[in-house]
Amino acid sequence: TDFGFQTVDKDDKQTMVARVFHSVASKYDLMNDLMSFGVHRIWKRYTIEASGVRRNQRVLDLAGGTGDLTAKFSRLVGENGEVVLADINDSMLKMGREKLRDHGIVGNVNYVQANAEELPFPDNHFDCITISFGLRNVTDKAKALRSMFRVLKPGGRLLVLEFSKPVLDPLSKIYDAYSFHILPKIGQVIVNDAESYRYLTESIRMHPDQETLKGMMEEAGFDQVTYTNMTGGIVALHKGFKF
Ligand code: SAM
Repeated sequence: TDFGFQTVDKDDKQTMVARVFHSVASKYDLMNDLMSFGVHRIWKRYTIEASGVRRNQRVLDLAGGTGDLTAKFSRLVGENGEVVLADINDSMLKMGREKLRDHGIVGNVNYVQANAEELPFPDNHFDCITISFGLRNVTDKAKALRSMFRVLKPGGRLLVLEFSKPVLDPLSKIYDAYSFHILPKIGQVIVNDAESYRYLTESIRMHPDQETLKGMMEEAGFDQVTYTNMTGGIVALHKGFKF
């Protein structure tokens, strides 16, 4: 179960993440449905409901990729609101922009290529930030969380949707077997790239568990940090406020 990614340095991790998402971009949505049996749609819908986003608000969908959350927020904020889809990877951004335009989602969405660690936005700018299945790919997570805190308005909230630690032992074992043995095979067949999905598995295993991530958010300045486990803790939604 050691694919050697733990020992890579900062630049190597960023290069690896870039390679992975360039490689999978064109099949990203199909892979999400296959790998999660479609359940990622439920996790995302729950996130939108928990966000409390209303008309006319300004939302940042960070590491937004192919824009599933952006599409939903665009409808919620209406024509006088704004959604910014930011992602470090131009292949993913391109897929997102094309998909949303095909769905007629235009007007209140802007696309920005940006690194979560150094967000190119003014202080106190957004009512809500989401980062969905993105934080685990960021090299310096503490720096990214501080950057998110800076660009949130006072009273604004951050939602982090991410793989986490399964809370039941048997589930944990099945999940490990699935992710180590099956996921890379699906990756091999669909995108001809088992290596990218080995990275995915490894990045999930290395990601901070529920309580650790909560502590990291508090460390970055967030208040009233809570989390909700979904699908037995395979995924968790963390929420925190800037006051
Ligand atoms: N949010 C989308 C979703 O839930 O389907 C996409 C998630 S995808 C697994 C992870 C995304 O994070 C990729 O599009 C990748 O390019 C982006 N990403 C990785 N590192 C990043 C960074 N440092 N800053 C911004 N985006 C990053």
